[in-house]
Amino acid sequence: MTARSEVTAYIGLGANLGDPAQALRSAILHLGAIQGVRLLQSSSLYRSAPVDSSGPDYINAVVEVATTLNAPSLLTAMQAIELTAGRERPYINAPRTLDLDLLLYGSAGIASPRLTLPHPRMWQRAFVLLPLHEIAPVLVPSKALNAVAGQACAFSASSGLV
Ligand code: ADP
Ligand code: MG
Repeated sequence: MTARSEVTAYIGLGANLGDPAQALRSAILHLGAIQGVRLLQSSSLYRSAPVDSSGPDYINAVVEVATTLNAPSLLTAMQAIELTAGRERPYINAPRTLDLDLLLYGSAGIASPRLTLPHPRMWQRAFVLLPLHEIAPVLVPSKALNAVAGQACAFSASSGLV
């Protein structure tokens, strides 16, 4: 049997409850521990004001992984990590202990309710585009960065990982 080849994927992380920076660092380690996932890069941690949401500021980051999992399986593994972190979904856009979004999976385009790729809202969000630009500048044209320049989002800390 030939091994399935690896696909490069980008995962957005966000949290605004509990200790968000700790939640993100722990989630990054968990992502790297998924069988069939190799962590390649992690952005710094960024602080942003809630968008379409409420509660304290968010901490956000983006990681680059190489994976042999298909996209739905990768999302399933990500959702298991959200649950481990105590994620609840009492209502849409509720504050969260951990949110993991699959932003890009190679060049895949998928449109289903469970999984839409590229992530449908990524191009409107500074808290996605700034960390993504930090680790993969070719993926984020300056026009896209300019479009979200008015949103409050700033470097908060090094992830201290990868
Ligand atoms: P959001 O991240 O939009 O605030 P949730 O994390 O609660 O909201 O996700 C809602 C649903 O979005 C999930 O049930 C998931 O199946 C679906 N979804 C669709 N596309 C994606 C994607 N690219 N990454 C993560 N979840 C996605
Ligand atoms: Mg999500």
